[in-house]
Amino acid sequence: MEVTNKPKLSLAKHGKESISLIIGNRKSLYAILFVSSGLIIPLAVKNYYLGYNLLAFSLVSFVVAAGFVVRALHRGTAITMQANIVVTLLIVSIFLTIHHLGVEAIYWVYPISISLIFILTIKSAIVFNVIIMGLVSGFSFLGMAIEEAARVSVSYLVTVLISFAILMHVNKLKQRLVEESIRDPMTGAYNRRQLSVNLENCLVQKKRNNINSAILMIDIDHFKYVNDSFGHNVGDEVIKHLVNIINEYSREGDLLFRVGGEEFILLLHDTNSDGALHVADMLLGIVVAKQMILNHMVTVSIGVCASFDNLSQDKWIKYADTALYHAKGSGRNQVQLYNYCDESRVINSGV
Ligand code: GH3
Ligand code: MG
Ligand code: MG
Repeated sequence: MEVTNKPKLSLAKHGKESISLIIGNRKSLYAILFVSSGLIIPLAVKNYYLGYNLLAFSLVSFVVAAGFVVRALHRGTAITMQANIVVTLLIVSIFLTIHHLGVEAIYWVYPISISLIFILTIKSAIVFNVIIMGLVSGFSFLGMAIEEAARVSVSYLVTVLISFAILMHVNKLKQRLVEESIRDPMTGAYNRRQLSVNLENCLVQKKRNNINSAILMIDIDHFKYVNDSFGHNVGDEVIKHLVNIINEYSREGDLLFRVGGEEFILLLHDTNSDGALHVADMLLGIVVAKQMILNHMVTVSIGVCASFDNLSQDKWIKYADTALYHAKGSGRNQVQLYNYCDESRVINSGV
């Protein structure tokens, strides 16, 4: 049996590539901002007394802007603009320092450029590093012998490129970890933890915008028999094959969750009972038609429950399970719809 297991569904974005490592980690960013502010205030005072007023003003502005970033982080609002202002002030301060102390102070740009790569979004980090690169080259070629200036520029470029390469690698690993933490490794379907987040989203949408969603609870019939008669490996292949069928025949945006050994929930967004029954009937027919095991008909039973007012996650799952239980009790290989008007009854879809 050929099984191509390609998870096609996507849900709430995780670990976006453009987001830096540290912005995702508020505590680290707080620590960096507090430590740098603590170091910069005495520096601003010193420069003020030395008569470098513009530099002192730029350093104090940096600390104030960093305060706004901390406040925005605390409130959970976007910090991109504030972060860009902070970095701009930092760069201005560095180059004013170089202007006052001489081009030898250029070594300060190395730690700062590396920090920016790990703190900012990738796009902002590229923009700021290109600006810094231009300034570094300009200052060094104006204030140093040509060979030395070339060495400074090239070493700066190499430092930045290596830092970007490390960031990309770590981001890739991070994304893989996120993917692995939300998906079942065997089938690529999402796991139970993700189900809860997505059911809640659907219930909020039902409440706010009256957008319906429906869940299909799908369980393979007599699966113990499949394992016992054909072996556990064939059982595994049947499970993977079922996931492929569901992925292939469901819409983009429908989400599949593995909630038990051979039990899945398909969450259909913006779908009412009729739509959900249509999908469930179609899947039922396709599973039978696919002939997963030679001389043995694999079938599934499906319990359907569409969202309705004042529904909770737990009840939603429980009602779909009730409908599935009725499908099993009524002979399997069929779809049952949970009837929320009468909790003691489920309606047979007529399959
Ligand atoms: P029913 O029609 O009532 O659903 O009967 P069933 O035999 O399918 O019963 P049930 O749904 O309780 O069976 C679950 C079985 O699935 C038991 C367990 O051994 C098997 N199982 C669970 N996870 C896996 C898995 O990853 N691979 C395989 N091959 N079998 C699994
Ligand atoms: Mg079963
Ligand atoms: Mg089961």
